[in-house]
Amino acid sequence: MSSQPGFPAFAIARLPRIEFGAGALRKLPAIAAQYGKRLLIITGASSFTVSEAGKTLFTALQAAGFTWEIRRVTHEPSPHWVDETVAGLQGDSFDAVIGIGGGSPLDAAKAVAGLLKPGNSVMDHLEGVGPELPYQGSSTPFIAVPTTAGTGSEATKNAVLSVSGEHGFKKSFRDDKLVAEYAIIDPDLLATCPPAQIAANGMDAFTQLMEAYVSTRSNPLTDALALAGMEAVRDSLLAFYRDPADSVARGKMAYASLLSGICLAQTGLGSVHGVVAPLGAFHPIGHGVGCGMLVTEATRLNIDLLEAREPDSPALAKYTAIGKLFEETPPNLPLSGEEQEVGDESFLPPSLIRGGLGRGFFGGYPLIHALESWAKQLNLPRLSDFGVTEADIPKLVANSRGSSMKTNPVELTDSDIANLIRACL
Ligand SMILES: [Zn+2]
Repeated sequence: MSSQPGFPAFAIARLPRIEFGAGALRKLPAIAAQYGKRLLIITGASSFTVSEAGKTLFTALQAAGFTWEIRRVTHEPSPHWVDETVAGLQGDSFDAVIGIGGGSPLDAAKAVAGLLKPGNSVMDHLEGVGPELPYQGSSTPFIAVPTTAGTGSEATKNAVLSVSGEHGFKKSFRDDKLVAEYAIIDPDLLATCPPAQIAANGMDAFTQLMEAYVSTRSNPLTDALALAGMEAVRDSLLAFYRDPADSVARGKMAYASLLSGICLAQTGLGSVHGVVAPLGAFHPIGHGVGCGMLVTEATRLNIDLLEAREPDSPALAKYTAIGKLFEETPPNLPLSGEEQEVGDESFLPPSLIRGGLGRGFFGGYPLIHALESWAKQLNLPRLSDFGVTEADIPKLVANSRGSSMKTNPVELTDSDIANLIRACL
């Protein structure tokens, strides 16, 4: 095959059909009825089922003649939880699985929908542990209804399952057949999110968008979506954090989260997601807050290393393009008094000055500045607040080379990854 210069070739894998908008949850009964009237509903601890939106939904489902079982996920789901849930439901027959909640219930529902019919253990398919048998299906139709703005799980083909503790791991059950039939994104469902969760989920969404954008597997279509998503986060994250009742801000964050899921399913992620997996497996650190704690230093490291090792990398121009989003301070990105004007060289951190003042470094600087500002304004903790110490670094490094690390725009050595974690302690 000849490879002629021109517009790059790319492929986009399966996406869910999407219903987005305030009040979209009202469409759920009609959408689910296409598949039948027997539902398995997987949701979080209790907040949705006792909310006004939950009560309205269950009344509507009852009136439309549905029957259902409910299963609850109170933590990030484990392979054991998935297997037990599937085993406990054998003998029943469901027309559709509805996942309603944050990333954990959605991932749990996605995995259960995949395994209800075949009935085997999810350990057969989990990446990086066990036999990694190909998933044959068939899956039960899955409808995803996110109630947080962060993981993008409503648009992805993988369910992340966790085992915590000394021999813990976080690994994906991944297949195109697991993608939801429908994603119903109703930003009104985000109105009850607590601020700490808004901060964590928002940093996850931004990290996913940025890692997708600079991924070695990015393409023109995901680039366009990722940039639009980062712009939406820029304009709305702090406003949503300060006031969850701000319907414009939460709509933009729900949109950004959806875009992050669409992008990451096509492009993979990067070093933040590579490191956050073992962090969450070995320490009590939620996914989103873990991303928030790592993303500034990971971005700084990527830019530094690209400048030093691969100055012609297209990822450097992309960091510059993200930096441009932050060059003019938008209304929702107030800078505190002691912070200096962007572009003032005397304020540049020494790590960025190393290696000279290259184009990408200059361009990426407003991005680093914005990430530092978010960490402060969103009150993000540091790794040491969770008891992570220097002694934990070798084990974290050794377990950070999952699928995400493979699409980081620059290859990281073990000592690079150790330095990244050390800078976040
Ligand atoms: Zn994530």
